This record gives sequence, C-alpha cells and structure tokens, in this order.
Amino acid sequence: MISSDRTVCDLLLTGGSVITVDDRRAVYEPGAVAVSGERIVAVGTPDELDGYRAERVIDCTGKAVLPGFVDSHTHLFQSLGRGLGEGMSLYPWLSDFMWPYARQISREQAWAGIRLTALEAARAGTTAVVDDHYAPVDLETTVGVARTIEEVGLRGVVARGIYGAPAEVTRHYDIPDYLFELSPEEELEITGAAIEATAGRQVGVWPAPDGNFIERQLIIDSVALAHELDVRWHFHCSAPQTDPAAYVSCYGERPVVWMQRAGILDERAALSHGVWLDDEEVSYIGEAGAGVAHCPTSNCYMADGAIRMADLRSAGAVVSLGTDGSACDHRQDMFEQMKQAIFVQRLTTLEPTSLRSEEVLELATREGARYLGIDAGVLAPGKLADIAVVDLDRVHLQPLNRTISTLVYAARGSDVVMTIVGGEIIYENGSSTKVDEAEVIAEARARSAELIDKAGLHGLLVPWRPPAQN
Ligand SMILES: [Zn+2]
Repeated sequence: MISSDRTVCDLLLTGGSVITVDDRRAVYEPGAVAVSGERIVAVGTPDELDGYRAERVIDCTGKAVLPGFVDSHTHLFQSLGRGLGEGMSLYPWLSDFMWPYARQISREQAWAGIRLTALEAARAGTTAVVDDHYAPVDLETTVGVARTIEEVGLRGVVARGIYGAPAEVTRHYDIPDYLFELSPEEELEITGAAIEATAGRQVGVWPAPDGNFIERQLIIDSVALAHELDVRWHFHCSAPQTDPAAYVSCYGERPVVWMQRAGILDERAALSHGVWLDDEEVSYIGEAGAGVAHCPTSNCYMADGAIRMADLRSAGAVVSLGTDGSACDHRQDMFEQMKQAIFVQRLTTLEPTSLRSEEVLELATREGARYLGIDAGVLAPGKLADIAVVDLDRVHLQPLNRTISTLVYAARGSDVVMTIVGGEIIYENGSSTKVDEAEVIAEARARSAELIDKAGLHGLLVPWRPPAQN
C-alpha cells in the first residue's frame, strides 16, 4: 500500500483503527494514513508507512480514522427555526412554518444560519454537503452561501432552489404565489451565473428545480442548464405519499415515469427522498444510475414513509444519506442517519438482517461521494483527504469488540475529535480552526429572534400543556 519510499508528507495519522471503506473494505487496526497537500498518499499499517516523514504526526491511538461523511441533502439555512414546527404533516409544516420562514429570511439571516449548521456538521465529522438552498436565491446570496460553507471549511454544492411560475400541480397544493417571485428565465439566468461564479471552487452550485410542484418545462430547462455547465441537478422527489398522487391527478403519470419519458433521468439526477416509488420508477432510477439521498430521520419525523432501500440499490441507484436540515431533523449528525436508516428498514421489512452497519457506513461515505461526484469517500492513495477521527476511548463506546458496529450504533457526532477536508484540519480539540464558534452562535441566536418576529412564527413556540387542556 506504500506508494513511495522515504517520502515527506504533510500529515501522518497513525496508531488508530483505520476504516478505509475502499474497494477491498480494508480495516487496519492499528493503521496509518499519510496526507500530502489535499490528497491521501498512503494507507496501511504503521509499519508499512514507517518510511513517511511528516510535517505533523497525529497519534490516533484509541481513535477511529474513517472517510469524512457526505451529507447529501440538507437545508443549512433552516437552522434559525430549530425546534419549531413539531407534530405537523408536510403541507401545514410548509405553509405555516417553512414558507413564511423562507419568504421573510434575509440574506444576512440565511448566512448566519448556514454558518451555524455548517459548523455543526464539521464538528460531527461531515466533510461535504449538498445544501438545498431556496431562500433567498438572488445571485449574491447564492454565491455567498457557497462562500459561507467554504469559510467553515467544508466542500460540496449549493443546490439553488428554482420555482419559476406556478404550474397546474402548484394549484393542487394551494401553494402561495409569493414563492414564485422570479420568472423561469430569471431563475435560469441567476442559477447559470452562480454556477459560473463558483466553478472550480470547493463549494459549487447546482440547479435544484425544487420538487413535485413546479412547472415541468422549467425542470427540463434546469436539467439542460446542468448539462450545459457540466454539473448535476437536485430534486425533492416523492417524500410524502401525496406527491405522486398529486402528479397522477394533474398529469396522469407518476413523477419519475414522467422524468424518464422526458429524457432527463441520468447519472446527473441527484434526487432526494424518493420514498414513494413504484416498481417502474425504481427500475428507471436504477437503470439511469441516478442518485437518491435518503433522509431517514426526516422521513420518520415527518411520517413520510420508508424508502425501498434494497430495491433501489439492487436496481443500480446510488443511495446516500442526508440530514434534511435542522428544521425537520434538528441535527447535522450523520451517525444519527446511519443508525436511523437501519431502523427504518428493519421496522418496515420486519427483517433484522436488512441493512448491516457496514452497509450504512458505505452509504454515508463512499456512496455519498459518488452521489456528489467527488473523488473522496474512501481512504485510499490518490483520493481527497477528507477524513473524520473519532475518539473511541469513551464510556459508551467501550469495550470495543467490533469497531464498525460500535461506530454506527453507539457513537454520535460529538465523539468526533478531528475533521480534515482536503488535507486541512478544520476542527480539532473541541473547536473550529476556521471560525470563531462563540461569534457564530451569538449571531445565529440574534438572527433567529429577528426572523421569528419578522415571519410571525411566535405561534409555533407552543408551551407544554397538560393533556386535559388540549
Ligand atoms: Zn429537503
């Protein structure tokens, strides 16, 4: 595994349990990882990497070293509403909470919320995000969202929400007109400019024609833009059962059947949720090699349902994991997603062998990287050095009989002690190396209070009432 002898490198992480998630699924206990610049140059046992002389050697004894997590569907701007909207189904949740929130949030408020949740993700070992951002979506804000995520040190994309003009299916949901402020032409122009302004950066931009309720021609045009500018596209697909039902009632066909017929379903399609899919839709997504970001905690919170995990994977879909933002998940913690993904499958299939801990670790790392289209997600020479280091010497993680199952079932984001993105340590010793955490938190608190006032969300601050008063 040593790519060259007596080499100087920048970082050497040695002595830990190195879980590579590589093609051989190699685990070195103990192991070592050498990093030079933004890439991994060697992985193996400490003896095998003895020839490396590093600028900095990090003793990882008692720790797990694994690929950083890819949160493949989140909404970082929603964090200012954390804790609100409890016990609502999707459409009241949107109309009484998230749409008024999205309508009123200012650029500065959005950036403050994004900075907070990007920091939270970095502290929990997440190294890359797909941030589905739909308010505000002017060019300066959108590019600023990408820069804010970079400021915290993460990589990934801002999937810019596209609404355009109301469509027939929009009326079906009684979606307010104020969400449709920009013309389709303006949506495409701003998205194209944002993609160009962020090209080649650590955080880029994708079009996100945002869901089952916008005009179909605008979805087709957004996909054409993604092809033209060589990026992927993101799409909220059939999370609640009502989504395909609304499509059938308005258009006489299910959403993914239409996508297939419209010729837009290929490996650039990075769908989120994909809960309510019939056999035909599963096979179309699989044949296309499209991605599906599974958000198990959100699907439970919103009572949406259970994804057809085994069917999608065996059909050929790239299934990854996402948090879906802190308004319907409450945490940017991929450990929680891994565990919850297993529980969702076992509870609905009644099959305790469905989805093993090793498999969900793959979804959170290498499959996430495939979904996002980055050269990361595994610890192997030549790959981007996106790495999470987890402290295993904690009461709730001992005795350590099986490292991977302990990580998936017992560990949590707060057990991460170091996060590395592209060879740069962005989180270490309990704090960010990139931003002042106290300032980030103070600003988010102040902006949250402003936004709750401005959007009139005080009604969601529901007190706890004894049952007799309900
Ligand atoms: Zn979402």
